[in-house]
Amino acid sequence: MRIFTAALATETNTFSPICIDRRAFEASLYAAPGEHPQTPTLCTAPITVGRRIAAEKGWQLIEGTAAWADPAGLVNRQTYEALRDEILAQLRDALPVNAVVLGLHGAMVADGYEDTEGDLLQRVREIVGPDVLVCAELDPHSHLTEKRVAAADFFVFFKEFPHTDFVDRAEDLWRIAVDTLEGRVAPVMSIFDCRMIDVFPTSREPMRSFVDKLMRIERDDADVLSLSVVHGFMAGDVPEMGTKMLAVTNGNSAKGDALARELGLELFAGRGTYRMPEIDERQAVAQAMTAPAGPVVIADMWDNPGGGTAGDATVVLEELLANNVTDAAIGTIWDPMAVRICMAAGEGAEIPLRFGAKSAPGTGRPIDGIVKVVKLVRNAEMRFGESFAPFGDAAHIEFRGIDIILNSTRAQSFDPSLFSVMGIDPTSKKILVIKSTNHFFASFSKIASEIIYCSAGTPYPNDPAKTPYRRAKRDIWPMVADPHRPERGAA
Ligand SMILES: [Zn+2]
Repeated sequence: MRIFTAALATETNTFSPICIDRRAFEASLYAAPGEHPQTPTLCTAPITVGRRIAAEKGWQLIEGTAAWADPAGLVNRQTYEALRDEILAQLRDALPVNAVVLGLHGAMVADGYEDTEGDLLQRVREIVGPDVLVCAELDPHSHLTEKRVAAADFFVFFKEFPHTDFVDRAEDLWRIAVDTLEGRVAPVMSIFDCRMIDVFPTSREPMRSFVDKLMRIERDDADVLSLSVVHGFMAGDVPEMGTKMLAVTNGNSAKGDALARELGLELFAGRGTYRMPEIDERQAVAQAMTAPAGPVVIADMWDNPGGGTAGDATVVLEELLANNVTDAAIGTIWDPMAVRICMAAGEGAEIPLRFGAKSAPGTGRPIDGIVKVVKLVRNAEMRFGESFAPFGDAAHIEFRGIDIILNSTRAQSFDPSLFSVMGIDPTSKKILVIKSTNHFFASFSKIASEIIYCSAGTPYPNDPAKTPYRRAKRDIWPMVADPHRPERGAA
């Protein structure tokens, strides 16, 4: 067997001001054929798992390019077209192949391409013809478009959010691909449009039990090859934005259709119960100030660079200042220009500085004042599980008694080590303000006396009922109360 594999992925928040060019891919991950490292990043596990499978089977794996950019805004048209064409040329050179196994994200939007994955998959299908297996692993924060479904044989999405299972799902993808190539199964996709958009953390109920149920069905029902909840991505303003339920069965589309519908309606019935409880910056700061002990972690959950925002909002900081809070630290506020000024001034300098809230409306106001430059670190890194996440040249400044970390590479706050590398003991502070929606929890919960999920300002379109969509459908929940009602009435 000869199998072609490649990866092309990013997550596009179409409301984000941070545009993505080739340099952004190169800064995150760009690997020429054969040069992908041994450890996968989020969307490239089909390559590393594929190496093992091919070696075990004695099959030939032909690797194409792997490119991943950290979530941000619109992808530059030339950048997308060049990466796409690079991979398609590699595929043509690899022919004949028995299968194409891709790592994608599913929410990439490029200038001129609302459905980049659909565009790529359609071109792959045109090259290989109708009989070659085409499949992909994707992130559930994805738009499952008709074009993609028509072009591919099957998809597997991560089940967990946080996405701790991207390697496990790549194993699923390859197992189904191998079984298909060896003639044991014939995968078909059934899709149910839940006609909703929501946030589905699997680290808490009720989504935890729902995902456990999907895995139980996969284990117990031999006809069911894979089940995925495609969460959808509310920050992607594209026509097919929304939550979908996907069932991949062994040639049994009648059963798959019924199962996708049943599970999709069950998911819809729980609408509005999946998200973590959120409070605004006034309530968050008041609650943190009255806590008996620290550190209280305030997650500025929607100014999360992992969701494509700049990470430079000052809304929570302004509230701390308004309450004259001093026993607090903020990690981080993205401001490369302010970092350069601090670097030029040097440690110990007291300088006038404007910092933060320069990227977009809804992120607060830039802060002006005399700050003390406490510590400077070039190419700063925080821990992230077993590895490290860079946050660029960084400055620890003190302003009106608050310790603030300014950074120059956008990064969500994964780990308390981001404070310690900048000379701040995070356990000594009453209040820690961080920028992350969900990924921070595993590490910060170990030191926090309390965790507060704070929705501050509007750096991210987190309320679909109010988001000024121009391209997304508006006849889905929560824009309408029950989009399934007319269908039920008719049935
Ligand atoms: Zn995701």
